[in-house]
Amino acid sequence: MSSYNGRLIRLDLTNRRSRVEGIPERRMKEYLGGRGVGVSYLYDELKPGVEPLSADNKVILMMGPLGATQAMSVSRMALVTKSPMTGAIAKSVMGGNFGAYLKFAGYDGIIVEGEADKPVYVHIDKDGIKILDAAGLWGLDTQQTHEKLRQMHGKATQVACIGPAGERLVRYALLISNLRCGGRTGVGTVLGAKKLKAFAVNSAGPLSLYDAEGFRKVNKEVIEGLKTSPGRIRMSDFGTSYLTLGFEKVGIFPVKNFQEGHLEGVEKISEEALVSIKTKNDGCYGCMTKCGQVRKVSGGSYDGATSEGPDYETIWSLGGNLANTDKDSLIAADSLCDRLGLDTVSAGNSIGFAYELYQRGIITKKDTDGLELNWGDHAAMMKLLEKIGNREGFGQLLGEGTKRAAAKIGKGAEDYAIQVKGLELPAYEPRAVKGYGLVLATSNIGASHMYGRPRDELSGKKDRLTEVDKGKDIAQAEISQATQDSVIQCSFGPVTGFSPQQRSDLLVAATGFKEFADPAYIEKVGERTLCLERCFNVREGFDRKDDTLPKRMRTEPLKDAGPATGQVFKNLDGLLDEFYDALGYTRQGIPSEAKLKELGLGGVVKDVKKYSK
Ligand code: SF4
Repeated sequence: MSSYNGRLIRLDLTNRRSRVEGIPERRMKEYLGGRGVGVSYLYDELKPGVEPLSADNKVILMMGPLGATQAMSVSRMALVTKSPMTGAIAKSVMGGNFGAYLKFAGYDGIIVEGEADKPVYVHIDKDGIKILDAAGLWGLDTQQTHEKLRQMHGKATQVACIGPAGERLVRYALLISNLRCGGRTGVGTVLGAKKLKAFAVNSAGPLSLYDAEGFRKVNKEVIEGLKTSPGRIRMSDFGTSYLTLGFEKVGIFPVKNFQEGHLEGVEKISEEALVSIKTKNDGCYGCMTKCGQVRKVSGGSYDGATSEGPDYETIWSLGGNLANTDKDSLIAADSLCDRLGLDTVSAGNSIGFAYELYQRGIITKKDTDGLELNWGDHAAMMKLLEKIGNREGFGQLLGEGTKRAAAKIGKGAEDYAIQVKGLELPAYEPRAVKGYGLVLATSNIGASHMYGRPRDELSGKKDRLTEVDKGKDIAQAEISQATQDSVIQCSFGPVTGFSPQQRSDLLVAATGFKEFADPAYIEKVGERTLCLERCFNVREGFDRKDDTLPKRMRTEPLKDAGPATGQVFKNLDGLLDEFYDALGYTRQGIPSEAKLKELGLGGVVKDVKKYSK
């Protein structure tokens, strides 16, 4: 009896076949689940140099050992592939219900291979796994796809699907389940290239546990503590929207494509403003917090628009980043992105990039299908989102992401493409919070906000502006994130509520694996996963030269950003040295042979030597 099913589904779309195979116990013990297991399969099975949008790429969906149990905020699913944005490893974590029901159906994950000759979807239930024709679904938005699959397979069907953006190969397309999304590195794009529209699962619990009574006892303690946790209650009341005002005050919230740090009228998109149109909470399976804020617009040009958001990242990407303080437009834009299956962070960045090029005269109305692009103009933003999601006109170019778009535009446009390794920056100004800058520079998946969170720096407990003695903390933050993504627990600290020891106790009670009893063993899984991701990237030609920040952060003093005004990121090199030293990597950013062996990765030493020459 174990919370691991120990089985995954392997889909061969080229030949329209599926098979069920066991997950070796060794792999579960070394990588736990989710991101760790997903990355280990991708490393083992993907040859270096595979084109991300070819049939040779794979997409891995993987649950964790606590998923579908009654523990809080752990029923999330990792998505792993090679990214069409960066050419590097891609990892993302998606919430919702789909993953829990996949576990109830008897599987811990799915590996998608090959490419269908025409659109298909996958249906999983007690009668087996079927790859079915999706002609009637192709072209539908994500909401319509959910509705149609529920009409076909029953109201209780759990769905994860791509939208028009994924079908049309917008490079930053997502996978969407209900209103939760995952895959900001282009997982939806890879699925679109494979012509896989959706997964649908019908199943019922419960899941077996190794020691159900022991699990219940620890879980009860955790839940009792969570009931009155102020941090958890704040997440439930406001979601991440409560971050906006505090971060704007200290210059962390970037404005006008990272040109400055103050947003006039920011209070119009604060948590208080947004909570005034909240209708209910929503969220992931097995979470008492349900941080999703369902909000509805009444009256005005966006009358009736409803979305489960926007969260802090989207308040920024389609709000502050565009100098847009119209909260109704944020609801409408968030909803539109969800329906199109579009990542709001890269979409907002791509639009901000276009607005700045327009401001500087690098592009004109002739390039933008006649649209004027002025800061704060949300009507133009809505038009651009439609164009991007449907790959029409100027939207085709913006749907490539800022790095590729800048290369096509030329005329110095690359200076305004705010990205690392091809992935656009999230809502954190590196010049105002230097440790976060180091995360964005070193993240193996590009500039993601989900790759390590320097909590003490963000809260102000540690100095945000110094550029020394941060490498060790950031190495630890990245290890902790990798551990959380492998367990898989929600990244919002206060919502899971368990200490490292309680987490270990839950893992042992759920799985029966005694190794998990030691919290240090669990953290080692995170370090191993992080290191293997780096090895994946080394095989693809990545090294220190790719661990960088946009030129703007390294050369332009930050304007109008409270205590961060005038800041430039000067000592990235010094911080990189500290970071590599802390992780046992060479000064080229490559894991050393000794570190690989210490982590039990001796088998990849040969690869690393071969590709790092
Ligand atoms: S806090 Fe939000 S994101 Fe985290 S598990 Fe709960 S609903 Fe999902």
